[in-house]
Amino acid sequence: MASGHLSREEALACEGCRHACHVMLYCDTDARLFGRKPIKHVILMQMRFDGLLGFPGGFVDPQEETLEAGLTRELSEELGLALPISEEHHVEARYAPASPSSSSSSSSSSSSSSLILHFYVKKLTEEQIREVELAAVSTAADHGHEVLGMVRVPVYALKAGGGLGPFLSHAFIGNARSQLLDSMLRLNLVTPHELHRALAHALSGQARTTRDLRAAAAAVEGRGPLL
Ligand code: AMP
Ligand code: MN
Repeated sequence: MASGHLSREEALACEGCRHACHVMLYCDTDARLFGRKPIKHVILMQMRFDGLLGFPGGFVDPQEETLEAGLTRELSEELGLALPISEEHHVEARYAPASPSSSSSSSSSSSSSSLILHFYVKKLTEEQIREVELAAVSTAADHGHEVLGMVRVPVYALKAGGGLGPFLSHAFIGNARSQLLDSMLRLNLVTPHELHRALAHALSGQARTTRDLRAAAAAVEGRGPLL
């Protein structure tokens, strides 16, 4: 197994571990942006309550339900519809990277409550993806609370550099960005060359983002208390 990776069975054998399950839902599409640019694939992510991008899903207690039943339950809360997930959709399990706060408050990184992140991928039809998006705003209990909105990943690159590159430079929860990148490559949704260009574009935009944020922080500071 790759470093930090576990099989589903190994993960379930871990005593005292907590488990979180998330899923990437996607489809192929013939649609074109501005009637010209092939969109090729729709991948669903969400803007979470904490301002980070991630995949739908959440904590599951395997003592109470199977991982897949728990993920299906989380999806009904976050997406507002029944979307059965089964073992065949399980792609990987791995230990969550230690968070900066937990590593500073405690020196032992593998505490008894290690979190194992399970990742699933399920391919839908384009019609089903639209149903998910509609239900997510109209019937999902978590809309406006845990989930601020569903977003589509732009899997294409525009001539001026827009598309996947700028999307990848947003902030993601946990290892959601690498889950997205690995899945796009494994499923041939992008070529390694396209992905490399998008990442290079994302990196080249970092300097400007840092400059803009510094300037904004300085402007707010110079203004003094806002109230
Ligand atoms: P949630 O209930 O969706 O916030 O997820 C439960 C836990 O999994 C939280 O500790 C999150 O930080 C973590 N988490 C959520 N999404 C991901 C992800 N895609 N990759 C890694 N960790 C995640
Ligand atoms: Mn969640």
